[in-house]
Amino acid sequence: MKVESGRSRLSTFHFPLSVLFLLLLLAGCKQSGPEAPAEAKGVDYTRVEVPTFSADSAYAYVEAQLAFGNRIPGSKGWQQCAEWLTGRMARWCDTVVVQDFQATLWNQSTVPGKNIVASLNPAAEKRILLAAHWDSRSWADHDPDSDLHRSPVPGANDGASGVAVLMEMARAMSQMPPEGVGVDFLFFDVEDQGAPEWSEVYDEDTWCKGSQHWVRQRHVPFYTAVYGILFDMVGTQQPRFTKEQISRNYAPGLVAKLWGAAKALGYGDIFVDQNTDPILDDHYYVNRLSGIPMVDIVQNSGTTSFFQHWHTTTDDLDAVSAESLRLVAEVTMKVLYGDYPAVR
Ligand SMILES: [Zn+2]
Repeated sequence: MKVESGRSRLSTFHFPLSVLFLLLLLAGCKQSGPEAPAEAKGVDYTRVEVPTFSADSAYAYVEAQLAFGNRIPGSKGWQQCAEWLTGRMARWCDTVVVQDFQATLWNQSTVPGKNIVASLNPAAEKRILLAAHWDSRSWADHDPDSDLHRSPVPGANDGASGVAVLMEMARAMSQMPPEGVGVDFLFFDVEDQGAPEWSEVYDEDTWCKGSQHWVRQRHVPFYTAVYGILFDMVGTQQPRFTKEQISRNYAPGLVAKLWGAAKALGYGDIFVDQNTDPILDDHYYVNRLSGIPMVDIVQNSGTTSFFQHWHTTTDDLDAVSAESLRLVAEVTMKVLYGDYPAVR
């Protein structure tokens, strides 16, 4: 995950996206997304029955990931976490595919990557994709102490929180699978190893290596989904999610449904009705290159960084709230169970 902190970088990222969106609008590509927000009206999300999500279990999955140490691609902790994650998902899902790849980083080093995809009802033609990145960042380049800029980020919120939400949703949903649709839980690797601030390298493609690989080489040939939702930094003590621009451009109907459901459920102060600038995250590549409209539910504190501990050495367990994990899953499952198949 990367935010453009410098002005020159911000404009670098904004300009091509603006042009891209204009071209897409002119080409009529917008029609390929979920249907218009107006058609979401009529679902009473407070009455939609969803599986029971355990906040405590989700929090325990964050703890378990941190107990492996840093999940830096190629490290021992990363290897152990991959085995644990794969084993857990195999308990709850029908299939698990591990997609191995090699990624070349900003410093030209090569690291191994593992995208992990676990599926419920793999035979169903219509599918919903839920995703998060599972690696933790190698460099705390936003730590207030510059001596720590080359130290790793624990990644409790930036990494482990999204993974934990997916895991507990998989467990819960396996008890009450949605009818007529398959669900894929996709754990992207090597998302957060992009060029550090101190490197003086800037290339957006140094981020999100796992999703860049996956969009070009799916875990199942010709795989596609009705829609996708990405979960990144969803567990802070003060959760706050805004309508980010790439999500709005590619998946306006799904943004409306998620934020509408959140409001109906009493979380309007968390899923705030505010449009915010594009950010570089795995959904950028999925939207651009896969044809699957994907929304990013990602912390936006309203300040310059995503959350207080973002890319610092203090992104640890204290940064995560079990209740935040639960409410994000609740909103997601309300839309997934309440709107399908009307979402498309
Ligand atoms: Zn990050």
